[in-house]
Amino acid sequence: MNYHVLTLFPEMIEQGLNTSIIGRAIEKGLLTLKATNIRDYAFNKHSKVDDYPYGGGAGMVMQAEPVYCAYEAISKEMPKKPRVVYMTPQGRVFDQAMAEELAQEENLVFLCGHYEGIDERVLEEIVTDYVSIGDYVLTGGELPAMVMIDAISRMVPGVLSNNESAEYESFQDGLLEYPQYSRPEEWHGKKVPSILLSGHHANVEKWRHEQSLVRTKERRPDLYEAYMQKEAEEKSKKKK
Ligand code: SAM
Repeated sequence: MNYHVLTLFPEMIEQGLNTSIIGRAIEKGLLTLKATNIRDYAFNKHSKVDDYPYGGGAGMVMQAEPVYCAYEAISKEMPKKPRVVYMTPQGRVFDQAMAEELAQEENLVFLCGHYEGIDERVLEEIVTDYVSIGDYVLTGGELPAMVMIDAISRMVPGVLSNNESAEYESFQDGLLEYPQYSRPEEWHGKKVPSILLSGHHANVEKWRHEQSLVRTKERRPDLYEAYMQKEAEEKSKKKK
């Protein structure tokens, strides 16, 4: 997987992603990460890339041409037109299913806005996906791009070691994960549930599934309802 980030703050991307699991995957060559400074493609001597919005209003807008030139410079080296994800609070909200789908791509371009956003005309020409990380407004697209890169990278084969496996995790089957415990057996008077010490694999699995259901119902009733509905549909299909 090759990530290309178009940004006004490349150092933020590089510093944010070159550590821990993602940093190790980059070192191993499983991922590449290139942050391109849109300012390098400014067409005036002051390296200015923003201007006032037509029609008036607060703030500045990133201009089309530097964004377009930065995109052209990176995409011309790719075998086919890549998916270009514009980070925006106006996009579809990112989730685990989207992370899994995007992990299949060979190249992914992330476009990070700043100020009031980017001139609509260049978005129309280059963007394939409009994605938000949640219903709130941040100052720039860099943190959202890093969130997406982190979640997508975990789905790329070899990035997680066996110890960090993504096999049984929240959202994998539409439920939140069961509670986890480690040593010691007793801490602050609280004991680890005895079933986890029993060594009985089938009972442990059953307990974990029940805990997942309880937790999802309590914390994410929307997910719980969708899960129960899917289960009911599958049962009725089997009966037919
Ligand atoms: N004026 C824009 C609007 O109302 O939709 C918001 C601009 S925001 C201050 C600046 C940049 O931050 C956006 O262009 C986008 O790249 C990024 N951004 C802000 N919130 C985001 C979110 N929830 N998800 C993804 N990107 C976001």
